[in-house]
Amino acid sequence: MKIIMLGAPGAGKGTQAKKIADKYQIPHISTGDIFRANIKNGTELGTKAKSYMDQGLLVPDELVVDLVADRVKQDDCTNGYVLDGFPRTIPQAEALDKALEGMGTKIDYAINVEVPDENIINRMSGRRACVGCGATYHIKYIPTKVEGICDVCGEKLILRDDDKPETVKKRLDVYHEQTQPLIDYYEKAAVLKEVDGTQDMEDVFKDIVNILGA
Ligand code: ADP
Ligand code: ADP
Ligand code: ZN
Repeated sequence: MKIIMLGAPGAGKGTQAKKIADKYQIPHISTGDIFRANIKNGTELGTKAKSYMDQGLLVPDELVVDLVADRVKQDDCTNGYVLDGFPRTIPQAEALDKALEGMGTKIDYAINVEVPDENIINRMSGRRACVGCGATYHIKYIPTKVEGICDVCGEKLILRDDDKPETVKKRLDVYHEQTQPLIDYYEKAAVLKEVDGTQDMEDVFKDIVNILGA
């Protein structure tokens, strides 16, 4: 099962992608997580990506396309995967299609998690990420058992630099301009599925399981 998560920043793509990966035992591939790991490790890719991420802009296509094309060729991807945060532009989607075609395969589902812009700023200001394992929480909607401490690994939680309201606004503009056209793209490819992302996390997941099958 090869799945793409679509939706605005903060729509809940990562939250749902992790649940899908757990239930269906497939890897969760988040390009944002890959970039953040590279920044943390001080790699050249990390240094390049950071300057764009800090401004709320997309990292250029050429820095992300080969990375994902290589990742989906790994052995753990033979039974499928859930892509979160990629593709984000039409050229990225075209490059992915081409890479998959070369492997004799294709995307099965593009799940669009719909959340209006009004809800997004709220979600982002409350988002907290674990510095250890990358788990994501929300101070109000998805709280940890102990405030500021990750339920999974016990490390501390931080507010991402790019989740400040000014940057979130910019990221939403970028989303509407560059990423939203992918909804049409996958509609035309007859793989688009829509879910209402304003529901509780578990209800959103139920809708997704209904689409993917138990
Ligand atoms: P969110 O899910 O909150 O939008 P991500 O963790 O997916 O955030 O991405 C964080 C940042 O990393 C993006 O704002 C962008 O700068 C960069 N990024 C991640 N994935 C891509 C991609 N496929 N193409 C370009 N930039 C990307
Ligand atoms: P994305 O990967 O699309 O940027 P996240 O999965 O990181 O989004 O979710 C953004 C924020 O909203 C996080 O703080 C997350 O805990 C919270 N969140 C995710 N799903 C829901 C939901 N259904 N209801 C309320 N808050 C949610
Ligand atoms: Zn953790």
